[in-house]
Amino acid sequence: MSLELPYDPQNIFAKIIAGEIPCTKVFEDDAILSFMDLFPQSRGHALVISKNAKATNLFDIDQNDLQTLITGVQKIGKAMKQALSPDGIRLAQFNGEAAGQTVFHLHFHLIPIYDGAALGAHASGGQADPEDLKALATQIASHL
Ligand code: 5GP
Repeated sequence: MSLELPYDPQNIFAKIIAGEIPCTKVFEDDAILSFMDLFPQSRGHALVISKNAKATNLFDIDQNDLQTLITGVQKIGKAMKQALSPDGIRLAQFNGEAAGQTVFHLHFHLIPIYDGAALGAHASGGQADPEDLKALATQIASHL
């Protein structure tokens, strides 16, 4: 029952929060961290996570932490909208392996959608160019 999975403090996003693994940061404060997805489904695909909540999925996060997190998602999404002018922004969030979750630290995906551009596969596309990710993160961050 992967929805009941206990939180693994060694998961890759916990290591990113701890600074043990690098990421391309868009935004960070005491409560949340936003960074570029390393295997983006579209140009500008970013993730937003809580730094404090040890939550595997949506169903085991404290309500206050969730409020802070979703407010952060809106903030990063607004900046993304201004920075990249996509035609749409998909908000995605997967709970449990059966639903497609591959990293077991609760996170929201902000995926810019561009008319006519096919979306890459979820969590199985190619790794992005680090310089491209840096440029996109800088662009988004400039609107925060
Ligand atoms: P999930 O499948 O759990 O909803 O999403 C996990 C996301 O994390 C995927 O979109 C995947 O591309 C991304 N991802 C996996 N490993 C890393 C990593 O080491 N760094 C970053 N920035 N993203 C990652």
